[in-house]
Amino acid sequence: MMATSSRTCHSESCAVKVPVVLEKEGLCPDHYLEDAFGKLALATEHFHRGQNVDCRTLDWLLAQVDFVVDSLAEEGTTWDSDQRSKLLELLLGIANLNEYVRHSTVPVRQSN
Ligand SMILES: [Zn+2]
Repeated sequence: MMATSSRTCHSESCAVKVPVVLEKEGLCPDHYLEDAFGKLALATEHFHRGQNVDCRTLDWLLAQVDFVVDSLAEEGTTWDSDQRSKLLELLLGIANLNEYVRHSTVPVRQSN
């Protein structure tokens, strides 16, 4: 049994119990992944269009890195193998976005 909180997932018409590790987000593993991929896709799209990436979204995504790494390292039963591969995909997606954003804001120095 995975450790669940007493709450059910916030997502509409989802009755899955929220695992303790996702209590802050209030989502079940599947909906957490859906939400995270949605935010990642939106931030990546905005960035490629040259629009400002919403700071809060980016902060949120970067904050997921530690969480995802911990989740992947954990032996528990919160995540099944399908969800684990999605976590890995999410991790790589966030890392890529972070690279783009970081490189775009680093000023190019002129060498004399
Ligand atoms: Zn759910």
